Amino acid sequence: MSHIDAIDNSLAHLFENNRAWAKNVSASRSTFFSDLAQQQNPEYMWIGCADSRVPANELIGLLPGEVFVHRNVANILVHSDLNCLSAMQFAIDVLKVKHIIICGHYGCGGVAAVLQNRRFGLVDNWLRHIHDIKHKYTPLLNAQANGTESINRLCELNVIEQVSNAAQSTVIQDAWARGQSVTIHGWIYNLHDGLLRSLGLEVSQWDDLATQSTQALQRISTPTQAK
Ligand SMILES: [Zn+2]
Repeated sequence: MSHIDAIDNSLAHLFENNRAWAKNVSASRSTFFSDLAQQQNPEYMWIGCADSRVPANELIGLLPGEVFVHRNVANILVHSDLNCLSAMQFAIDVLKVKHIIICGHYGCGGVAAVLQNRRFGLVDNWLRHIHDIKHKYTPLLNAQANGTESINRLCELNVIEQVSNAAQSTVIQDAWARGQSVTIHGWIYNLHDGLLRSLGLEVSQWDDLATQSTQALQRISTPTQAK
């Protein structure tokens, strides 16, 4: 035991889990950690909700090192958030990821808080971005059958809006201008069955955005395609 192990034992079970995990991974692939330490070469960047039930690389069956992950409350991508933009810039300019996946999830607590006008504190300021989306799509949201459906529609609208924000960012605009291939995808995850669904957004150039956003909005506005 090193001196570090002796410092904090209150979460000893997590260190135990970690040792078991590292042992299992090494047993199934002996060079896993040495390969990983050499380089990270992901093709995908994931921008998702910080919700603990949405583990990015696990639910798409990828290993650590295969997806570059950024998470925040309610998977918001705004142009004043240097954290998210910096992660995107590094992913695109340095790691050369080919796909940016913006993934929301149904039943998102952040989205629900907005629709239910609940207050939690500082995070309410962050969620103002979702309030803006709510105001923009009030008629569509009011047309939903019940509160759960309204929350789920706003979760989808949030993804559509964040895909648009990503496409308008200088990071993506610059990548496209120099001919780098980067596609932005809009997905949503269902906590109840563990399944992902595409919202039909696969934006790989500026001209794709308006048409695809309109089509995605039409799809979620059509009651016969209720989820
Ligand atoms: Zn969430």
